[in-house]
Amino acid sequence: MSSLEGYKLYAVLALKCPRCHKGNLYCKSSPCTWEYMDKMPKECPYCCQSFVGEEGFYWGAMYVGYGLSSGLIFAILGLDLLVEGYVSYPVLYAAVLMPLVLMPIIHRLSRAVWLNFFVHYEKDARENK
Ligand SMILES: [Zn+2]
Repeated sequence: MSSLEGYKLYAVLALKCPRCHKGNLYCKSSPCTWEYMDKMPKECPYCCQSFVGEEGFYWGAMYVGYGLSSGLIFAILGLDLLVEGYVSYPVLYAAVLMPLVLMPIIHRLSRAVWLNFFVHYEKDARENK
């Protein structure tokens, strides 16, 4: 058992089931294959928590992804502003392109955050199924 189990941040960053923090949220660990980028099992292999919400459930994750992408852009621009005192064009282009390059990771994190809004950790989740 990881010492971070039980924290939502752990479930999000490790892409684990929000209920048991043991089962994987995605079929493949690598987000870099287009086919498996957003493939989730129908339910957690450990505690049987359903990962399939009602129709359009994951549309809300789009807003989370928007927030993550915006936050990333503003963090890069803010850092450049702090270090150089102004925003240079190469950094501006890099900041705008960064969310596109990191899109598979942001997409997965957004879904994990969205699912964690609605499903809460249960320490003995497997025994409760
Ligand atoms: Zn689970």
